[in-house]
Amino acid sequence: MKITEHIHQAKKPLISFEILPPLKGKDISSIYNHLDPLMEFKPSWINVTYHRSETIIKKKEDGSFEKVPIRKRPGTVGICAAIMNHYGVDAVPHIICGGFTKPDTEDALIDLNFLGIQNVLVLRGDAEKHAPNFEPEKGGHRYAIDLLKQVSQLNNGIYLDENIRDGGKSNFCMGVAGYPEMHLEAVSYENDLKWLKAKVDAGAEYIMTQMFFDNQKFFSFVKDCKAIGIHVPIIPGLKPLTTQKQLSILPPIFNIDIPNDLATAITQAKTDEAVRQVGIEWLIQQCKELKEFGVPVLHFYTMGKAHNTYDVVKQII
Ligand code: FAD
Repeated sequence: MKITEHIHQAKKPLISFEILPPLKGKDISSIYNHLDPLMEFKPSWINVTYHRSETIIKKKEDGSFEKVPIRKRPGTVGICAAIMNHYGVDAVPHIICGGFTKPDTEDALIDLNFLGIQNVLVLRGDAEKHAPNFEPEKGGHRYAIDLLKQVSQLNNGIYLDENIRDGGKSNFCMGVAGYPEMHLEAVSYENDLKWLKAKVDAGAEYIMTQMFFDNQKFFSFVKDCKAIGIHVPIIPGLKPLTTQKQLSILPPIFNIDIPNDLATAITQAKTDEAVRQVGIEWLIQQCKELKEFGVPVLHFYTMGKAHNTYDVVKQII
């Protein structure tokens, strides 16, 4: 079922989760072990992230060095199919511009369509590790909106090969990313919103946000979106802070602020478990407020730590 149908049919805020494919070498049981406890909460769908390859420098036998591409977390499409088959729950693969040519994208979409996957979260993807900027593949897309337009074309039965007339139409429901505190590379908050509106005008049916720890930022974002004519559902992306290190790691990576009260409480906590409890309690309060605000869905980034998500959702369901 499409994400938009889930939302329209809901009588109360839905729960959904995002998971990462396991590191190469692990099998599907690691996904089931991660998800099994969370299925108690009857999530409406599960997002599966996509990870492009990284370039590493490898020493050759003759002592010289070579650049080698490696993918540490492959398997997004297979995991989505496995989740749908194993749990009977919708899975939402993330699709990205990075590392994909347009024909690669078309083939991937055809695979997803054949598998009966009706949803995609359409993203640009991060820059390659250690690269200063995002660079598209030759013959690929530079921005999420361009990828979105390709999915839209396929939904209309239009393929890259002009010889295919009246091609089979896919039926993907497309979501996109939004940034309550502005995307890291955006020229300004207003400019970022302008591009977000362009994605919605190009066919995005809902927005899923970057994580945030200050609900006021989310409330302002929703208001600002409405003010410029964005009327699709906006789904808050949520994650508990669970280590002191995250206080310095997360803000520069995701361009987010951590409220002083939260940072102080985390800093003053005496043990790792006390830190975790502070982060979990903070997110529980965030969720309660977001529910009162009327969000359609609470979407949790599990990031390989299902027990943290479990402890939050248990208290708010
Ligand atoms: P875009 O919408 O293309 O925006 C990128 C930047 O360009 C922004 O600063 C925007 O303001 C600007 N911009 C947009 N359109 C234009 C235009 N036409 N002309 C000029 N400027 C423009 N990354 C992964 O690699 N894999 C994942 O699975 C993944 N999942 C994610 C899930 C969520 C919910 C979120 C919020 C992020 C996720 N990311 C993932 C990270 C995401 O790929 C990065 O944040 C990336 O840097 C931007 O992606 P985007 O889709 O927002 O890009």
